[in-house]
Amino acid sequence: MSNIKNDISLLPYNTFRMDVKAKIFAEYSSVEELRELLNQYRGERLLHIGAGSNLLFTKDFDGVILHSAMRRARALDEDGDTVLIEADNGLVLDELIAQLCDMGLSGMENLSYIPGEVGASAVQNVGAYGVEAKDVIEQVKAVSVADGTERIFTNEECKYGYRDSIFKNELQGKYIITHVVYRLNKRLEPKLDYGNLRSEVGESVSAMSIREAVIRIRQQKLPEVSEIGSAGSFFKNPIVSRTDFEAISNRLRDITVPYYEQEGGIKIPAAWLIEQCGWKGKIVGGAQCYPKQPLVLVNTGNATPQDIITLAQNICDSVKDKFGITISPEVNYI
Ligand SMILES: Cc1cc2nc3c(=O)[nH]c(=O)nc-3n(C[C@H](O)[C@H](O)[C@H](O)COP(=O)(O)OP(=O)(O)OC[C@H]3O[C@@H](n4cnc5c(N)ncnc54)[C@H](O)[C@@H]3O)c2cc1C
Repeated sequence: MSNIKNDISLLPYNTFRMDVKAKIFAEYSSVEELRELLNQYRGERLLHIGAGSNLLFTKDFDGVILHSAMRRARALDEDGDTVLIEADNGLVLDELIAQLCDMGLSGMENLSYIPGEVGASAVQNVGAYGVEAKDVIEQVKAVSVADGTERIFTNEECKYGYRDSIFKNELQGKYIITHVVYRLNKRLEPKLDYGNLRSEVGESVSAMSIREAVIRIRQQKLPEVSEIGSAGSFFKNPIVSRTDFEAISNRLRDITVPYYEQEGGIKIPAAWLIEQCGWKGKIVGGAQCYPKQPLVLVNTGNATPQDIITLAQNICDSVKDKFGITISPEVNYI
């Protein structure tokens, strides 16, 4: 039976630690229970959450928060080189990755230690250290919110982009992802070209040693979820056209703008833009631009949603004023 609570604080359910309330919180343990909940609450405002690590609750939620207690993974098939693994939406992504690395299966090790659950990672197309979820996702299984029917999305049908997918655009709120099928490699295909990953891994290269190196690097730079409230990178790295990039570089003759060439344009690190505008470490109310990584906004303990919103808006405004570049939030405002 689903576990249903009324009028509860969402404090334990979002990593920013916003103390807002939800009218109803319903947790299901099977796809059948999810379908029953969708029937029961038809017409209500619905929000499916994972670990709440990419959300900013801006006020009380006058509706039904859905959450999955399905937390298993299973091997579906294998051929000479690869294995198909299906994971439930509510499984903690990093627990899955730890298991896969332990089994010597490769493909997701660079995504180690990203907070959150399997379902949301396929919505967000999470990425780190040169790998994105889309690189290993074979299929996404989902249930229609409108009528409870199952639909299987191929990787291509998910329309993945940088922290983006069909589930954040035309199908936003229309499907609940129930399972994700990944294709993992039996043979290690290490991706070590991002930042200082190669040197951190050292001589002995395995899925597990890459995972451990990624975790060490992340622990030096990013706030620990159990200690400091945040939603990770608050802003996306802006992608501009080559023409715009040249115009910006020409205008800022004295400053060398860092960039990465990529499909669709030139990516400029938002952290650099924010730091150049002097925001690193700055505080607004209880919200702070994290001193070790200015792309992250943190709750110093008593931040209100408005503190975070104000700090984020001020940062966007000054990046726009100084560089003429618009940066937009990666975090979902609810
Ligand atoms: C310290 C820290 C570091 C981080 N580092 C990274 C990083 O390196 N790379 C990166 O990409 N992200 C990073 N993030 C962001 C975050 O971990 C990811 O976006 C993650 O995928 C969010 O998962 P979640 O389960 O917490 O989702 P939530 O925040 O609960 O939800 C995110 C979105 O997905 C929707 N959703 C959730 N579950 C489902 C479902 N089953 N079906 C349909 N929609 C659903 C929600 O409605 C919401 O719109 C970081 C966050 C923190 C706090």
